[in-house]
Amino acid sequence: MDLNRRNFLGGAALVAAAGISASAQAQDAGKGTVVGKRRFVAACPNATGVIARTPGPVRVMMIGAHPDDTDITCGGLTVKLLAKGYKVRFASVTDGRMGHHRLTPDQTAKTRRAETIEAAKRFGLDGYDIYGYSDCSLYPSYEARCLVAKKIREFEPDFIITHRTCDYHADHRAAGQLVMDAGYLLGVPHWVPEAKAQRRRPVILYMTDPFTYPRTLRPDVMVDVEPYLARWCDALDAQVSQFYDWLPWDKGTEAEVAALGDRSDIAARNAYLMKYWAAKKMRDAARFAADWKEVYPSRPVPKYMEAYEVSEYGRAPTEEDLRIIAGENA
Ligand SMILES: [Zn+2]
Repeated sequence: MDLNRRNFLGGAALVAAAGISASAQAQDAGKGTVVGKRRFVAACPNATGVIARTPGPVRVMMIGAHPDDTDITCGGLTVKLLAKGYKVRFASVTDGRMGHHRLTPDQTAKTRRAETIEAAKRFGLDGYDIYGYSDCSLYPSYEARCLVAKKIREFEPDFIITHRTCDYHADHRAAGQLVMDAGYLLGVPHWVPEAKAQRRRPVILYMTDPFTYPRTLRPDVMVDVEPYLARWCDALDAQVSQFYDWLPWDKGTEAEVAALGDRSDIAARNAYLMKYWAAKKMRDAARFAADWKEVYPSRPVPKYMEAYEVSEYGRAPTEEDLRIIAGENA
């Protein structure tokens, strides 16, 4: 067996095969955790999970650069987790004001705010925050680091999902960097004292992207999202200025949008959204098929998949953490 491949949800047999005891699986003080045959190294000192989580629903914060990133890339998992009673909060570090070809930046920013409120309603989110930096010029400033950390601490998430720092868009890279930069500092009480330090830091994960340099995403968490895509399309539909104006103009698919008319034909509307926005979930299902078969040998490879990689800048996950964020817990 290839010992470099992670296999955290494969069960006790795999743990036994690797010669790792149950206690070693749960705790590896100071170095992270060992789950299955994977060691998760982590920056945060409470990596062993000795600090108990705050009671109540599991809290997940998804932080993107623009007011559509988390919707598009994490929307299937979002619907799944919300159905299990989790609290999920979206955040966009920028207000997306540059993302339109006809509206002025101020008009776009105002429109995006209104549309994210509607998207939050349709998903059933705890909230959808826009931190208000301009897009196309976001960089990981100290001021932005403090703001992002304050917002994270206020929500007190168990998990954060954000961009990798090798993503194509400078704003995506900056948003991911801000979360990485805040990761350890979330637990430092005298830093940003207006928001209570988070003793039990969150597990941080990266949302999927197709980029291969310096390496492709490692699918530590894989989710079959097909059952959730109708609800997901309904939430995307809330962002009219994105999915029916700007993005079609950017991609050159305006004629297909025009053919939808007033979009009252839900099946046609969903077919359009699926064609352009579920395609990456199909590609991920194909490229991670071998990983899926290793983790879930008795389940067919999904048609649509979302995949997530654990970051080393948060708390190291236990096997239970990975089940929880995949929505696979009881
Ligand atoms: Zn984006």
